[in-house]
Amino acid sequence: MNFDPADHALWRPYAQMKTTPPALPVLSAEGVRLTLADGRELIDGVSSWWTVCHGYRHPHIINAVKRQLDAVPHVMLGGLTHDPAECLARRLAAIAPGDLNHAFFSESGSVSVEIAMKVAVQSFINRGLRGRTRFLAFRGGYHGDTLATMSVCDPEEGMHTMFAGAIARQLIADLPTDADRIDSLDALVSDHIDTLAGVVVEPLVQGAGGMRFHDAATLQALRDLCDRHGLPLIFDEIMTGFGRLGTMFAAEKAGVTPDIMTVSKALTGGTLPLAATLVSTRLFELFWDEDPGKALMHGPTYMGNPAACAAANASLDLFEHEPRLAQVHAIEAMFAALLPTARDFPGVVDVRWQGAIGVIEMASLPELDVLKACFVDAGVWVRPFNNIIYLMPPYVISAEDLTVLIDTTLRVTEGWARRHFS
Ligand SMILES: *Cc1c(COP(=O)(O)O)cnc(C)c1O
Repeated sequence: MNFDPADHALWRPYAQMKTTPPALPVLSAEGVRLTLADGRELIDGVSSWWTVCHGYRHPHIINAVKRQLDAVPHVMLGGLTHDPAECLARRLAAIAPGDLNHAFFSESGSVSVEIAMKVAVQSFINRGLRGRTRFLAFRGGYHGDTLATMSVCDPEEGMHTMFAGAIARQLIADLPTDADRIDSLDALVSDHIDTLAGVVVEPLVQGAGGMRFHDAATLQALRDLCDRHGLPLIFDEIMTGFGRLGTMFAAEKAGVTPDIMTVSKALTGGTLPLAATLVSTRLFELFWDEDPGKALMHGPTYMGNPAACAAANASLDLFEHEPRLAQVHAIEAMFAALLPTARDFPGVVDVRWQGAIGVIEMASLPELDVLKACFVDAGVWVRPFNNIIYLMPPYVISAEDLTVLIDTTLRVTEGWARRHFS
């Protein structure tokens, strides 16, 4: 080893440590702006991995967290309880679609999906049905980085081959976007029904797997499929939840109600880690019994952390008192007005938008690190991945800042596209 391990004490996410460019130190953040250590300011087009929906340091959330830290920063949820968690569970039940009335808290999206999978599997065990342990999931899907959630990701993104043996083998299919596919999916489910415990999908937009869109009819087809075969339908709304598509949840926009729903990312408005698995009363009742063996044996140490729950409650206040969804609609209108120009750039395969998500899909993105650096040099924080350049700004972004963000993204993308595809 010809490097100093002390320079690499921090192992960075999704990075080949040997070749990844140095990360940019952030000194402060306010609204939609990040200030770097060297004084440069960047307009954030990523909302810190899709979390910071109200912008950085919204005083209502900051003050709520401060008050909670002064009262009870943390207390275990085993045998004890507290207002922030009780209140948040009731509020989530009230705004979630259908009868998703029971919230199980955890600290990360991946874990909330694991809990959803565990609830689905045990819902069969508690009815005396053994062997129902596998899931149907979809190409292009992303549900987390832990071993169980990797198994329901897109096979390539989830590295199913590389990790063969370490992760469970699930049924992975194409999303049923037409009648033929629905029929073949139904046949596949029929063939495997003795081993299946549920269906997992990101509703309307598959995020980290490639920002792919599908329509409400696809979700309705999955709802019907699950009803025909008696399978729980799990919506992973970790990315779509809390307004990103212009309604509080994608389920609401699609008019389709799942049996289990996972939420995380924007739950605390991008302040503290928190996730929730929301479960229908029908499934919850399968755990409701004199028999302790039918209890859900799960309990993350920091489950329902009071400061994080206070942040989430404050974030929900902001959805009630500030025009967040209207802001998302305004962002969508701006994408519709400005993004189509990119269709004329060389190498562009598709341009699409929905709610506060704008996507430029390229044939490929060679020299990705160079492109990322170009965005920073131009004053915007935009993080393309695979062949996707996308914008997911905080909902509070002003029309001026959004225009700068979109125009800069188009200018950098065009220059880069002409270098590589002309
Ligand atoms: C980010 C994400 C996850 C994983 O959440 P983590 O908090 O990173 O574990 C799962 N599902 C979807 C749809 C996501 O966008």
